[in-house]
Amino acid sequence: MAVNEHARGTAGPLERRGNARRRLLAQVGLVVVMITIVLSGFFYTNAHQQALIDLREGGRQMRIAQEALMDAEAYVLNRAIGERDGKYGEYSRAFEALHSRRDSHLARLDRFLKAPDGTGLSADATLKSLEAIWTDALERVRAGKLDEAQGLLGDRRSAALMGKMRHAFESFLADWNSHFADHETRIEIGKSVVLLSQLVIAGMMIFAFRSGAREAQARAAAIQAMDASRTQVGHLFEMTDMLQSATDHHDANAVLRATAGELIGGFGGALYVFNNSRDRLILSTSWACDAGEPLPESITINQCWAMKRGKPHINRSGARALCCEHHASGFAALEIPMVARGENLGLLQVFAEGSDAEQRLAAILPLSSALGDAMSLALSNIALREKLRNQALRDPLTGLYNRRYMEDSLDRYVRLAEREGRKVSVIMIDLDHFKRLNDEHGHATGDAVLREAAAAIVGALRETDVACRYGGEEMIVFLPDCDLPDAALKAEQIRARIEDLSGAHGAKISASLGVSSVPSTSSNSADLVKAADTALYRAKHNGRNQVALAPVRAGWRDGTENASDQAAHLRVAAE
Ligand code: GH3
Ligand code: MG
Ligand code: MG
Repeated sequence: MAVNEHARGTAGPLERRGNARRRLLAQVGLVVVMITIVLSGFFYTNAHQQALIDLREGGRQMRIAQEALMDAEAYVLNRAIGERDGKYGEYSRAFEALHSRRDSHLARLDRFLKAPDGTGLSADATLKSLEAIWTDALERVRAGKLDEAQGLLGDRRSAALMGKMRHAFESFLADWNSHFADHETRIEIGKSVVLLSQLVIAGMMIFAFRSGAREAQARAAAIQAMDASRTQVGHLFEMTDMLQSATDHHDANAVLRATAGELIGGFGGALYVFNNSRDRLILSTSWACDAGEPLPESITINQCWAMKRGKPHINRSGARALCCEHHASGFAALEIPMVARGENLGLLQVFAEGSDAEQRLAAILPLSSALGDAMSLALSNIALREKLRNQALRDPLTGLYNRRYMEDSLDRYVRLAEREGRKVSVIMIDLDHFKRLNDEHGHATGDAVLREAAAAIVGALRETDVACRYGGEEMIVFLPDCDLPDAALKAEQIRARIEDLSGAHGAKISASLGVSSVPSTSSNSADLVKAADTALYRAKHNGRNQVALAPVRAGWRDGTENASDQAAHLRVAAE
């Protein structure tokens, strides 16, 4: 059904649920990875920070040792040149400081003191040698032998040992500096990775939250749309059901108006259906059309794009380009051609006003089409039923109502006229010498003349008059709201029209007519037909091809006294 079309092209609920689960799993996986990265980054940074602390401590200890060695040397040199500054206690504390760091720190100087092949003195051995020289020198100072002490300190061995130690300290601190910078860089990298990962996780959380909210919103909208769709389908079913029982256009239109109000409330609309000759669309009903401009009573197919193309068409408000000729400019109109069982039945219009009128109309196209489909089927059924009824009521040769219909309805017409104080007239028509026409020109010509005579009769009548085939070549016409003189004039018109058929068949064609009327000549339906028949017999008797009137009832006075004179006049005209 057309209403369900909006569901097409979107994933089904199972597929949607599968997608959501996959997306959730991917998001959880990514979060786990990101958290792992953050933790690893944290441990990495932490390790390097710890290493940096150790390194800093190592460097500090090494500087203390270096300063202690310098202090010890300065103390010894000062003593050797006779200075009294400094105390021996400081000298021995300096050595204590050096000894206490011998294994833990000074051992690290070994790699700068020894040659690559492992030869040469270790830091410990170098310190011991220096200590031995300096102790010796201090003893000589104490003994007043300053020269000897100076000689000991100034000799090449002592200078070389001190130079090596100095070099080892400097090398160690330069190396330490480079390690220090390396750790600092690694810490920075670790911190950046952690920060970046945190940002990514935060971004993902926001994204997940947003998409979750969006999904929830979409799910709510889908449920709402489904509910609306179910209600709409309910209305459509109800409409189809009601339309099944619609016996005529009046019923069907009432159902359409009610359903349109429920289904596409807020929109006006109209229904046009074909006239009998199928050359125009006639306004059948409209609803909620309170726009100033009245709707046209009829539309020709050439004026309408939807009918010409056989497809829905939107006439925009105001715009004249690509608008149907019949369209008024004050509003937008969606036009849907109505087709059922391969037959064009009419046009459904839906109207909207305002700046977004076209978008709103486009949005309700599926619903309006469903409405049009249901209504098309109903119209087709009504037409079919009408056709069947007509088949039962009409004569197949002439298309006039048959005798059964005449008998059923004449009484009704007469009673209605009596009750409402109106008049009804009857004209009985019998073709003259029809047997002879059949004999001379064939039965087919006889049939054709009968058909043409019927058409000539109908052509002379008003919409409300009823023409029936009474039997054979006899026809009868009821004329509601028509008195005897007017019926006499109508009968004369019919007589002339039938006489005019003569030319087409090369044979003389004429008819005799008898006219009667309630209440002037007859009091009930049976008398009415009898009176017309009697008048007809008189017309035949008087020479055919003429009109005869039934005699006015005795005592009847309403200006029809002259009717007999008029009939006499008509007969003269016919002769
Ligand atoms: P009159 O002027 O007295 O009415 O003479 P008539 O020949 O018309 O009258 P009659 O009642 O003698 O003959 C009626 C003829 O109409 C007889 C029949 O062959 C012919 N007729 C009746 N129904 C049909 C029909 O459906 N088709 C044709 N072709 N002829 C019909
Ligand atoms: Mg006859
Ligand atoms: Mg006849």
